[in-house]
Amino acid sequence: MTMKTIKKVETQIMDLMAVETIQKVETQIVDLPLKRIHKFSVTSIVTKAYLIVRIYSANGLMGIGEATTPGGPWWGGEAIESIKTIIDEYFAPCLIGQDALNINQIMAKLDKVAVHNTFAKAAVEMSLLDLKGRALNVPIYQLLGGLYRESSRINWPLAMGDSKADIAEAEQIMDDGIAHDFKVKMGYLSPQDDVNYLGELCKGLCDKATVRGDLNAAWNESQARVWLPALADHGMHLIEQPMESWNKAGMARLRSMISMPILADESLRTTQDALELAALAAADAFSFKPLKSGGLLVCQQIVAIAAASGTSCYAGTFLESSIGTSSMMHLVAATPNIDYGNELVGPIWLADDIVQEPMEYRDGHVWVKHGPGLGVDLDEDKVKHYLRS
Ligand code: MN
Repeated sequence: MTMKTIKKVETQIMDLMAVETIQKVETQIVDLPLKRIHKFSVTSIVTKAYLIVRIYSANGLMGIGEATTPGGPWWGGEAIESIKTIIDEYFAPCLIGQDALNINQIMAKLDKVAVHNTFAKAAVEMSLLDLKGRALNVPIYQLLGGLYRESSRINWPLAMGDSKADIAEAEQIMDDGIAHDFKVKMGYLSPQDDVNYLGELCKGLCDKATVRGDLNAAWNESQARVWLPALADHGMHLIEQPMESWNKAGMARLRSMISMPILADESLRTTQDALELAALAAADAFSFKPLKSGGLLVCQQIVAIAAASGTSCYAGTFLESSIGTSSMMHLVAATPNIDYGNELVGPIWLADDIVQEPMEYRDGHVWVKHGPGLGVDLDEDKVKHYLRS
């Protein structure tokens, strides 16, 4: 061994033995502009709020994390302002003085400080994973089992409305190489109108693209049994959350009667939900989101339960910026059974990002970052510019 190699090995050993004592926790709210108004069932937004969490170690390292909500507390009960308060007033005092590398230990402590609050916990955990990756000089996927894939297929959400306009948008998205898989929100119209609308989209697109519908739990079991076979006949590729989140047994009954794959979203938040869905064989795939489950490591457990039951997984979205999107891509990159693609389109929908090198979108895929930690660094000028005063 040369002196240089010995020195390198020595440094690596020192790194592995290092303790990263948490010295300071900082949170900031930024409001980022969207390219166009985004409508949810209960609200519409032109900017999207993100909470940036910075955790500093005594050795001078900083990890960054992010939380965001779909325009307020209607989806998960947490709002950007409440996430900030929980972290500042309750989590930060508990984090100071801890070794940032002991993530499992820290997250167990936070579970004792606050029940639920999964969005706040996910943001803190993201920041710890980033810090740990930087401390060990590896991308987060190395902490999750190493690289299995570098990219994942994008599902592009089409705006609910005019089928001609949506087909035109889909053609454009395919021409631009962004995606060849499309997702449509359902449940705002009557079931008959939904079937007609999706039928039109399938007619226009299904010979060159896939079309899936997301009912967001809008139908009940009998509506699903009556109306979904017609959509399967139209060539619809997959149905997401066809009925109420609690009705896992109903999803299993539906699954045994239709050939179209079923993706569980609202039915799946906890590891116990995953176990129940797996035992009932209620879904072909699970949609995981760290913000709804309390972090990437809980999602890794969910994905493992899925693997053990022969279930596929899919990366859902709350329209994270490049920070949250990158964190999810590390799990996607590390895991074989996340093979239903993703809807990680947040960075495309944002008119501006707050990192120096946003996520890369190419060939209908989003690509994992290979730098240490999350692999993205804040653009401090932009953080200042979009900071909520
Ligand atoms: Mn969904």
